[in-house]
Amino acid sequence: MTLFEKIIAREIPADIVHEDARCIVFRDINPQAPIHLLIVPKKPIPRVGEASPDDEAVLGHLLLVAGRVAEDLRIRSIDKGFRLVINHGAAGGEAVPHLHIHLLAGRPMQWPPG
Ligand code: AMP
Repeated sequence: MTLFEKIIAREIPADIVHEDARCIVFRDINPQAPIHLLIVPKKPIPRVGEASPDDEAVLGHLLLVAGRVAEDLRIRSIDKGFRLVINHGAAGGEAVPHLHIHLLAGRPMQWPPG
């Protein structure tokens, strides 16, 4: 069971801000911005590059949920804004082998990212 499956199963506590049949959204335990959420599919897809065509709908759902959560947090307007990040593999910065989208906001974002 992955760490995030344990959060989904309520075996590990998390600050959950959204849940539906296909995903869960909770606050990152080590936030890198004033707002730092993780958008996680309930299906334990290890990482984005290993998703299959069967996962197309859930992948799209995660992005739509990102927009809805951003609206709930009042950061969706283009004068505010947010950043989505997916880390794949060791060089990509992946630590938890369960696909997740980072949603970061509340400070200016640098480009290029580190
Ligand atoms: P990544 O490096 O893309 O795999 O991101 C994993 C993220 O999970 C990191 O930003 C961690 O801070 C976060 N994380 C690890 N354990 C927990 C936890 N128990 N609750 C919430 N976030 C966590």
